[in-house]
Amino acid sequence: MPVQTDQPMMFSKSFTRQEPISQPAIDSAVRVLQSGRLHRYNVVKDEVSETALLEKEFAAYMGSQYCLACASCGSAMYLALKSAGVRPGDRILCNAYTLAPVPGAIHNTGAKIILVEITDDYTIDFDDLAAKAAEKDVKWFMMSHMRGHIADMDRIMEICRQQGITLIEDCAHTMGARWNGKLSGSFGTAACFSTQTYKHMNSGEGGLLVTDDPDLMARAIIYSGSYMNYDRHLSRPDDAVFESIRELVPNYSCRMDDLRAAILRPQLKILDDQCQRWNRRYQFLESRLNQIPGLFCPKRDPKEQYVGSSIQFNLNTEDPTVILRFLDTCLLRGVELKWFGNKRPVGFTSAYSSWKYFDNLPELPNTDRILAGMCDMRIPLTFDLADCESIAQIIADVAASVLPREPE
Ligand SMILES: *Cc1c(COP(=O)(O)O)cnc(C)c1O
Repeated sequence: MPVQTDQPMMFSKSFTRQEPISQPAIDSAVRVLQSGRLHRYNVVKDEVSETALLEKEFAAYMGSQYCLACASCGSAMYLALKSAGVRPGDRILCNAYTLAPVPGAIHNTGAKIILVEITDDYTIDFDDLAAKAAEKDVKWFMMSHMRGHIADMDRIMEICRQQGITLIEDCAHTMGARWNGKLSGSFGTAACFSTQTYKHMNSGEGGLLVTDDPDLMARAIIYSGSYMNYDRHLSRPDDAVFESIRELVPNYSCRMDDLRAAILRPQLKILDDQCQRWNRRYQFLESRLNQIPGLFCPKRDPKEQYVGSSIQFNLNTEDPTVILRFLDTCLLRGVELKWFGNKRPVGFTSAYSSWKYFDNLPELPNTDRILAGMCDMRIPLTFDLADCESIAQIIADVAASVLPREPE
């Protein structure tokens, strides 16, 4: 008789493995490679580049007037801020729970960041936002829908209207998501999306900037490095809009190339289906995780039609020793979680206290408390529901052995 072993269940799939690029996208990339014409402006007469077509198609998807494809979401945010008129020394509101490229884009403009608290559901704190928006000389709000958590956009727009604030949205995790039926990224003056590998479309790196504002778009196109080929863009304002600014805006070279655009266009066609596939996994995991004592996913507003490409939850402790034991034990069993409470920024998590290149970082006790116990997990589409079940089971086992009991 075999010896009874009590080996704990292990999870062996990779949390960083996305689905392969589809065959139509590969075919389209091969066509670009065979042509030797990879630069967006390297087209023959009357030919339209893949990048110009992607811009047109993404603008149509968003219901926006204009779209510009950029090298990254970070560069799209930088161009959006500059093109909207942000000047060095301006003060820009930003939620304190976001990813490093967002403060980076603000820093790149020479503006000052005004960090705003978040609440227990990971979205921006309206009271803190309203108070800071009312301060003198605050004109801008770079709002990050971090990890896909969308605040009540009706209230956001109300505050922006009241205080005369221009809203720019960071939609790196909300491509395809909506608030009350309206697409995330269609609220602000401009919105920026990422096509970096871990986002909702994958071109390795890449970004998309959308707006309805012709002056903003004309400036962004020239800033991005149009070499005065702006007439080759399909999703752009009339030539007359460029005329007065074409020699006043420098070239920052932040363009997307045709190879990336070629693999993104087929992905845009299936974006909504992919979003539903993420949500089936997310909702399954969320219901399982919420049954585990000591751990909770905040309730989401029914008006928030999110895309669950990752999941966040808080532990019932802020004790770093316990949290590290929890994370390490999960990892030993193959479940890779990130932690926003780490004092040192690691991987894709970062706490605002590590953006030391700003000299005015505030104390934000609520955000500190929430981040201290916040875990984060990717949900790649290479996982199926059975994988999600195994993951939830492992987290439940580890939580039972490591986390403190609930208060009596
Ligand atoms: C990934 C990400 C970005 C930036 O994307 P890049 O394309 O890598 O520059 C911005 N904001 C958030 C919240 C992100 O997760």
